[in-house]
Amino acid sequence: MTASPSAQPFKANTLEKTGKPKLAFRPLPVPQVDVHGFWGDRADAVASATAGILYDRCVEARMLEQIDPDRPSPGVVIPFHVSDGFTARTVTTQMFWDSDWGKTIETAAYSLYRRKNPELERKIDAVIDMYEKLQQPDGYLSSWYQRIQPGLRWTNLRDCHELYCAGHLIEGAVAYYQATGKRKLLDVMCRFVDHIATVLGPQPGQKHGYCGHEEIELALVKLARVTGEQKYMELAKYFIDQRGQQPHYFDEEARARGADPKDFHFKTYEYNQSHIPVREQDKVVGHAVRAMYLYSGMADIATEYGDDTLRAALDRLWDDLTTKSLYITGGLGPSADNEGFTSDYDLPNESAYAETCAAVGLVFWASRMLGMGPNARYADMMERALYNGSISGLSLDGSLFFYENPLESRGAHNRWKWHRCPCCPPNIGRMVASIGSYFYSLADDAVAVHLYGDSTARFDISGVPVSLTQASRYPWDGAVEIALEPQAPVEFTLHLRIPAWSTGAELTVNGDPVNLNDVTSDGYAAIRRTWKKGDQVRLDLEMPIERLYANPQVRQDAGRVALSRGPLIYCVEATDNKSQLHRLTLPRTARVEAQQRPELLGGVVTLSTTAQADAGDGWQSGLYRPAPPATTQTRLTAIPYFAWDNREAGEMLVWLRDG
Ligand SMILES: [Zn+2]
Repeated sequence: MTASPSAQPFKANTLEKTGKPKLAFRPLPVPQVDVHGFWGDRADAVASATAGILYDRCVEARMLEQIDPDRPSPGVVIPFHVSDGFTARTVTTQMFWDSDWGKTIETAAYSLYRRKNPELERKIDAVIDMYEKLQQPDGYLSSWYQRIQPGLRWTNLRDCHELYCAGHLIEGAVAYYQATGKRKLLDVMCRFVDHIATVLGPQPGQKHGYCGHEEIELALVKLARVTGEQKYMELAKYFIDQRGQQPHYFDEEARARGADPKDFHFKTYEYNQSHIPVREQDKVVGHAVRAMYLYSGMADIATEYGDDTLRAALDRLWDDLTTKSLYITGGLGPSADNEGFTSDYDLPNESAYAETCAAVGLVFWASRMLGMGPNARYADMMERALYNGSISGLSLDGSLFFYENPLESRGAHNRWKWHRCPCCPPNIGRMVASIGSYFYSLADDAVAVHLYGDSTARFDISGVPVSLTQASRYPWDGAVEIALEPQAPVEFTLHLRIPAWSTGAELTVNGDPVNLNDVTSDGYAAIRRTWKKGDQVRLDLEMPIERLYANPQVRQDAGRVALSRGPLIYCVEATDNKSQLHRLTLPRTARVEAQQRPELLGGVVTLSTTAQADAGDGWQSGLYRPAPPATTQTRLTAIPYFAWDNREAGEMLVWLRDG
């Protein structure tokens, strides 16, 4: 059940606009949106299970010992790959523990809106007290460089995640302030960022560097928005502008610590997207999560500064990703080697890396592209990644996780309790817990509805408080009723996304039909009028079952077909099907039917049909023969991909043989 929000609606400070004024859409802060229905269930699982589990696992992993100045340092708990000084390979995931705390704090904070949890709040308060006590007088803060490797701060931005960790702690600080009104961690992080701005920057005598793992850029934008301090925005912009410039900072930094710049494990700066300046980039390369976080920060800066040069680069990168390197689930980064991209159209299914964090990162990026105005090109993909490749990373009860999200499994790929590199669990946790802010965004005289589903948003527009309530069974049904309740009549534009997957949509305002052709651009219907209490908007989206095919350049999907309905991509699991999954063929003539299954997997719509299966006739011995196997008819049942591996372990397959 959903608790009422524990905090008063939070209002962000107003930032002074520098640069060209632009119509910017900003996401609604999490406390201003209550979600119910599908996302309410997910957020409840995070609030009641995941948030506490994250804290407990961090403690079990000895992360508390690392940040607590009152305890002896635990030393190196997770060994380095090799211990040969500061070369590229002396990185341990333990260096990132501050980031895991940051994301755990963020998940807990957003969950506290939903469900009061004084015990968890006390634990997080204690963690924050430790960070406050750990912070050095000059503002510096890193449990790794203060407690495990003192004396080496700011010597290896390329590999050691120093600014990345700061970024996640900033995001945690912003969320905790918004959730609880407590600003201790926010003040700690402002002091740290003020220190960072003295060390790094464009001035002579400063290091002209940036982080090897992007993250602080988007975090600084959040910090600027919540504090109203433009200097944090400027620092974010500096990191983005400086990335990939010559002389290359990572070369200079390596020489300064007596290392050969070429001695870089990943060989190319494409790995961290610093191979060329960001405005010259047109190919999505390297580590997938790094890429998504960079583009997210770029999109924020493009929005805040009205910077069309950044926007042009982002559009090229968007095209490249979505037309050549994205799984149908919204997963990305096929390779475990670089945790990232390989070559165009290389989308292996069984060995797909498709890290949960990368799909979460795509949601971040897509949502920030919407800052520049409603556009279904981005929002449709945000929805694809949200409903499929990201939340597949979290079990339905919120207790177990995936790091990799393959599209095919023989049954041995199963959810785990924790990971040596635990980046994904708190990332999916914080995304789900903050889902309300992805639903809506607000401009000076407009509100955009990007996602559909049971929810209520509260916001001010032209000084008038407005509440907007959606009633919908989405994603199981495409009917959406929207009730508007402004406290006084007020004129603004309501933007409603018309998803590209919908083959037909009907819109009415107070019962009067609206011609969508007249009002739709960039995939959003725009209704401008003076809204008054009791106004009702109804949107009916046709939600057909689709057979989807991959570009023939994708060799792994040749001759195969995937099923979708609305925003959901489907898969077959062994437990629902009699045949081995690779033996199944979905005939093109098969009539696929949707069925409501309230008792299954927390309530889903399944897709079923009569399919064909290769029979085992006469194959008891021998491997090859001239005659093909006989086929038999069988029943095929598919479930939403996000819900797989929540029952007994078994095979799973997204791309079926097309017959
Ligand atoms: Zn991850």
